[in-house]
Amino acid sequence: MTHLVTLIPGDGIGPEVTEAARHVLEATGVRLEWAVERAGAEALEREGATLPDRVLDRIRRSRVALKGPITTPVGTGFRSVNVALRHELDLFAAVRPARSLPGVPTRYPNVDLVVIRENTEDLYAGIELERGAPETAELRRHLSALGHEVREDAGITLKPISVSGARRIVRFAFAFARETGRRRITLGHKANIMRFSDGLFLQIALEEAPAHPDVVLEEMQIDQLSMRLTHDPETFDVLLLPNLYGDILSDLCAGLVGGLGLAAGANLGWEYAVFEPVHGSAPDIAGRGLANPIAMIRSGAMLLRHLGEDDAADAVEAAVDDVLRRGEVRTRDLGGTARTDDVARAVTAALRRARR
Ligand code: ATP
Repeated sequence: MTHLVTLIPGDGIGPEVTEAARHVLEATGVRLEWAVERAGAEALEREGATLPDRVLDRIRRSRVALKGPITTPVGTGFRSVNVALRHELDLFAAVRPARSLPGVPTRYPNVDLVVIRENTEDLYAGIELERGAPETAELRRHLSALGHEVREDAGITLKPISVSGARRIVRFAFAFARETGRRRITLGHKANIMRFSDGLFLQIALEEAPAHPDVVLEEMQIDQLSMRLTHDPETFDVLLLPNLYGDILSDLCAGLVGGLGLAAGANLGWEYAVFEPVHGSAPDIAGRGLANPIAMIRSGAMLLRHLGEDDAADAVEAAVDDVLRRGEVRTRDLGGTARTDDVARAVTAALRRARR
């Protein structure tokens, strides 16, 4: 069977790392047909839109995509492509595993956790009112009538968290834990301060928990959770987080196990799935062949697993581990001198070695 996959190279280091991942995925022998689509800076230049409808249509058709990072140009008025994709395709769950890897020295050698981040609500819902705008003044007046004073020179970003939005990510997290043999979910929140948003998120999780007696749910304030993650990350299993905390702690967890160059991710909804690394487009090293493609390759392994190609996914992960364990081929972020395509070739060679 041939799987149709939309491939979005993205901006900055995106084209380099997606090409490396494609090379590795093709070497697994799984039959993949790629539909390459431009989004981001290049699409803006050529078509006047960072996320042309065509790209969305294509993903709707293929149902899965492998996506490089896309930059949101600051101050252009364009909505973030990443945020827009998640909204348009209702990719409400971000799944980001953080596992200590062989040959990558870190403070904690036995981290094996997964961050599950709600992807559509919270402070990242994009509901913003600019300082000084007429709408902002209007909202201020409404709030004032309700007894809430907002300074005249304030900009406003709203934090909506809904029952339905919380319930689906909570259910997703329990199902994910069960399917992957994980036993404990730690929910991070600040429910004591933000009672009607984080508090609601927590309340829904506590309501759902009794229906999932095989998985333990614990809750922790986000500041305490951050501290605990730097002290004993090895004790965590699944972290369930509203959008903003999830964004921040995903990077923290990536840092715990060797950095952004290694951290893979998936954005999942009930219908569509977009696989992309945690890192951004890294403009500081773009176009120079210095980027570490492993985060993207591991995102590709997650894609293979999603397609039901578990053996190939296992093989890619084992090949990456093998290359890291040997330590001969590493990019600069891991202290080496190898280039992006050297890593892709080394992983492919490890795949072939394992098959012999
Ligand atoms: P964004 O806002 O899109 O997250 P950013 O610039 O804040 O962008 P990244 O693009 O992820 O964040 O880059 C953060 C740092 O990590 C940069 O110094 C970048 O060079 C480095 N980095 C990110 N990804 C990689 C990679 N794959 N290989 C090597 N270094 C990377």
